[in-house]
Amino acid sequence: MLMIDHQIAEVVNQELRAFVSNTTIDPSWRKLVSDLQALPLLGAPICVLVRPSGEFVSFVFESWNGGIPVVRLEDDEAVRTEALFYGITDNPSLRILCLSIPSNAAICWQCHGTGNQSGPVADSCTCRGLGWLPPNRHLDPKSLIIACSGPAMIRGAINEVRQQLSPEFRKRLAKVERDFISFKLSGFDVEGLYRRMNNRSVAQILAEDDLKPDPTPLASGQIGEVRYELYDAPDPRNTRLDDPS
Ligand SMILES: [Zn+2]
Repeated sequence: MLMIDHQIAEVVNQELRAFVSNTTIDPSWRKLVSDLQALPLLGAPICVLVRPSGEFVSFVFESWNGGIPVVRLEDDEAVRTEALFYGITDNPSLRILCLSIPSNAAICWQCHGTGNQSGPVADSCTCRGLGWLPPNRHLDPKSLIIACSGPAMIRGAINEVRQQLSPEFRKRLAKVERDFISFKLSGFDVEGLYRRMNNRSVAQILAEDDLKPDPTPLASGQIGEVRYELYDAPDPRNTRLDDPS
C-alpha cells in the first residue's frame, strides 16, 4: 500500500468513527454511514460518500427509505470533484483526498486561486479558501447576465442565472428580488423587476444594491399566506438606480 493510500485510509477511518459517534447527527443517518463504512461528502440530491480505500460511492438521497440503499461506484468525475469540494471545505482534514487542484475544477474567480487564506477571508471567498471551484458551478457574477425579451420572462431569466451562483450570491440576488414584493402587496412588480435587472450582470445588480442604504421596515406582518414588509417610499431624487445607463 502506498504511503498516501495509507494516510487516506487513516483520515477517512478517523472521520468515520467521529461521524458515527456524533450524537447530534440523526441516528438512522449514522447507522447508514456505519453500515456502508463510507463517509458522506455531499448530501443531496445524490449522496456521495468516500470509503477508506479512497473509492467514491453514491446513491440517490431522495429515494432513501431508511434502509440500506443501493450504492454504486461514482464514475462521474464532475460529481466526484463537487463532492470533494464540499467535503474538504466542511472538513479540512479531508484535504488528503485531493492534494492538487482536480483537472476539471475551475480556478476560483474571486481569489484567483490563491486559496489557503485563513479566517474570515477564506470564509468570505466563494472557494472557502480552497482556491478552486467544482466544474460548471458558481460562475463569476460578472459574466452572468440576466437578459430576456420582456417583463413576463424576467423571473424565468433570473431563475436560470440563479442556479449558477454560489449560495452567498444566490441569497444576495434573492434579497434584491424581494424588494419587488415588498412594495406591491398584490404580487410581484414584474415591470419594476425587469427594469431593474434586465441586461445587467449579477455583479452590476449587486453593486447597485450595495449603494442603497438598508431600509428599516416601517411595519411588517402577514396577510393570509403572504408575508409583507412596508418601507418608506424611495427618495425621488435618487433616480440613479433606475437609470439603465
Ligand atoms: Zn477563492
